[in-house]
Order: sequence, then structure tokens, then C-alpha cells
Amino acid sequence: MYIEEKRSIIFIMDRFEVIVIGAGPAGVSSAMVLARAGKKVLLVERGDKAGDKNVFGGTIYAQQTADIFPDFWKSAPLERSIVEQKIFMLTDTNSSEFSYKYKKDEHKAFSIIRSKWDNWAVSQVVDAGAYYAPKTLVKQLIIEDGKVLGVQTEFEKIYSDIVIIADGVNSIFAKQIGLRNDIKDKDVSLSVKEVIELPKERIEDRFNLDDETGCACKILGGPLKNKMALGFMYTNKNTVSIGFSMCIDDFKKCKLKPYEVLEQLKSHPTISAYIKGGKVIEYSSHLLPEGGYNAIPKLYDNRVMIVGDAGMLVNNIHFEGTNLAMLSGKLAAETAIDALDRQDCSASTLKEYYKKLQNSIVIKDMRTHKNTISTIKKNISTITSLYPELACQFFDIMSSADCVPKRAKYRKFLATIIKKAMLPSIPLFILAMEKCFKK
Ligand SMILES: Cc1cc2nc3c(=O)[nH]c(=O)nc-3n(C[C@H](O)[C@H](O)[C@H](O)COP(=O)(O)OP(=O)(O)OC[C@H]3O[C@@H](n4cnc5c(N)ncnc54)[C@H](O)[C@@H]3O)c2cc1C
Repeated sequence: MYIEEKRSIIFIMDRFEVIVIGAGPAGVSSAMVLARAGKKVLLVERGDKAGDKNVFGGTIYAQQTADIFPDFWKSAPLERSIVEQKIFMLTDTNSSEFSYKYKKDEHKAFSIIRSKWDNWAVSQVVDAGAYYAPKTLVKQLIIEDGKVLGVQTEFEKIYSDIVIIADGVNSIFAKQIGLRNDIKDKDVSLSVKEVIELPKERIEDRFNLDDETGCACKILGGPLKNKMALGFMYTNKNTVSIGFSMCIDDFKKCKLKPYEVLEQLKSHPTISAYIKGGKVIEYSSHLLPEGGYNAIPKLYDNRVMIVGDAGMLVNNIHFEGTNLAMLSGKLAAETAIDALDRQDCSASTLKEYYKKLQNSIVIKDMRTHKNTISTIKKNISTITSLYPELACQFFDIMSSADCVPKRAKYRKFLATIIKKAMLPSIPLFILAMEKCFKK
């Protein structure tokens, strides 16, 4: 049921079993699982419409999405089914590309526009029986004797047995209950993004697509070299989302403004060819958790659980956020259902949520990459500057016919690889081996 102007409904309901704060992928998944189990659940969202406050690259992943919304592709507002993943390695002027293409019907991931997707997802949750209150800012949790009893919105106090915190990366409520501190600059990146409108056919020509298929691109180096930063480009139906994320620490060091870096990226010769002639119809920015496993706080307490970005559950190495948000939302909801049935919503029961996370890919994958971000940081110039240079040099040697003997070129290239790439890459290699073989 949609609760907007008819706020009296909230007063008529004496209380809810669960209140979920935030209608992003994590909150919507929790509310969906609870509503399907017949629990009295209220989903609260500050935006006029779900998705209004959200910023995203990006793609959602089919498997975890289908877990919450079976057959979602039949009715959800999807942009394109991703069939190609590209990595652009840029030098200041040149570039090389690596591309992986797969069959159209594999449907591994879809590009989406968050405002459309979130609205659709909320409508499914309401159909399943949840109460939904948009345009409702939660100001604080109601806490008495160390127990979370509900939420204080700008309109009223609403009570529940359990509160699920799904308010995203800057979670003020995780901080209010003392489970999180202010996020450190090294553990968060700022993403800026533009949506560029282009005729559908031009997008398909430039990215070599047909009218349903899409391409997801990651961009390394160029104006982002020597920084903990990654660019991205995603094809939608008649727009291209382009942007980059950079660690706040690096923004401080380089003293560049986000839009200046984005302009540099857009004007790199390789990238500009894809977006030339397009019209910018949207500019947005958002924070993204970057701290990985080491930054995950305690995710439960008496009558409360934390899901998605609010719990720092993002796997940056594999560009996974929405899927971990959905999965953590689902596991928290399952724990809540069990706790409500047992009439015990204490921390000792809700601890089960963390055990479920540990047995899932959420914690398993994040633990695998426990030290990856710090190793990348230590080797950032090798990865973002030297590797793109070497990749371009390789193609240059293979393709340029001039008066320099090939043997001299090979020797010079090999010497550079050994001295500058292989030796500094040893820590990365050891790390990769550890990831594969350590339990
Ligand atoms: C530029 C960019 C590109 C990305 N690309 C990808 C990608 O390609 N694939 C991928 O899987 N992930 C991607 N991510 C990450 C992904 O967007 C997040 O991991 C995911 O959205 C987290 O979902 P969430 O529900 O936890 O939080 P959010 O999506 O942030 O949702 C939180 C919700 O809570 C609401 N809220 C906050 N405070 C309150 C309050 N006080 N009262 C009421 N409501 C409140 C907000 O309005 C919002 O709707 C990207 C992120 C960025 C920034």
C-alpha cells in the first residue's frame, strides 16, 4: 500500500513488525522477502519517487536479481542486455582495448536507469503486500534502554519489532547506534557521472550492438593515471552513462575538481569518439564504499540489522554492489522472519544474519579481496600508467613499419617489461596466488 498524503494510515496501524529505511536495492529486497512471508513491513524512502536520490553506473546482475524478482526481465524497465565487457587502457594520447564478448541469450547483466528500475521494484514490493512511504525522511531511530524501537520521521514516530537500515553509504543510522564511525577518506570514493543522449542507432553503430544488446566498459589510465580511480561507460537504450570513481584521498592530493577530471576523460581521443555529438541530459555524483572487508562494521544489534552500502558491502574489485545489496537485504529479511516467529529479536538471534552472510558470496568474496585494495594502492602507478603504456607499446611494435630493426625494438620492450613491470608485479602475483589457493 502506498502511504503518501494518507499518513493517518500509519497512525491506524498500531505498529509494524519490520521497518526498512531506504528503497535502494538492499531495502527493496528486504521488504520484498518480508512481504512475501506475510509480515507487516513498512518501507520508508526520502525521495519523491524511489530512485530519485540514487546514482548508478551501471549494471544489475541477473542471478541475484532473479532471486528477488523471478522473471524480472519480462516486465522490468531494462535498458540493454550486456553482451560485451571492455577494458580501455589509455595513455595520454593512445589506447589499447581488451574485450570479452558472450552470447546474447546468456543474460548475465543488464544496464538500467535507477529512477525507472527502483520505481518498478517498489511497485512489485507493494503488490506483494508491503506498506510504502515515499517522501518520508527518517530523522533518527527511536532508542530506549539501548533498544531500537522504531523510527522518528519528519511527520511521526513509527514503532516496529525490528528496523533494517538500508540508507546507503553514508548511513547516519548505523552511526547513531554506534556500529559505524564517520567513513574515512581512504575508504570511500566519489563517483561522478553524466548521462549523454545520442540517437539509438548511433550508439549501436559506435559500440557494435543490435537494438537489445549492450556494452559495459571500464577505463584505466589516461587522465586517471597514478590515482586510485577507474572510469566507466555503459550503453543504455538511447543514452550512454559515462563517469569515473576516485578515492577521496586522491581527490585531495591531486586538487582537481571532479568535473575537470570528467571533462579530461570525455575529451580523450578514444573516449570522445564514442560520445561525440551527444547531449548531456544529467549530471550526478555519489559516494561509493571502497574500504572492502576491513571496513565492514558489526551488522546487527538488538532489534536492528544493517544491509547493502550502509554496511559497506561492496566488492570494488569486481564492480559488484547491487547484487551484494540485494543478497544482504534478503538474508537480513530471512533472519527477521525467523526472529519474529520465535518472538526473540535480540542481538543473539539477529547474529544469525552475519552467519548467513559469512556462508554467502558477500563475505566470502569480500574476504578474498581483504588486502587487494591496499596492494593496488601500493602499485597504482604500475597498474594505471605503466601497464597501459606497455600495452600500447606492444601494439605499436607489432604494427609500425619504420627504419628501426625489430630486434632492437623487442630488446628495449623486454628490458622495460622486466625492469618496470615484472619486478614491481611480484607482490600482485603473490597476492593473486594467495587468493586462488588459500582457504
Ligand atoms: C557511479 C556508480 C556506479 C555504480 N555502478 C554499479 C554497477 O555497475 N553495478 C553494481 O552492482 N553496483 C554499482 N554501483 C554500486 C551500487 O549503486 C550500490 O552498491 C547499491 O546501490 C547499494 O544499494 P543500497 O540499497 O545499499 O543503497 P542505495 O542504493 O544508496 O539506497 C539507499 C536508499 O536509502 C534512501 N535513504 C537514505 N537516507 C534516508 C533517510 N534518512 N530516510 C529515508 N530514506 C533514506 C536513499 O534515498 C536511497 O533510496 C555503483 C555506484 C555508483 C555511485
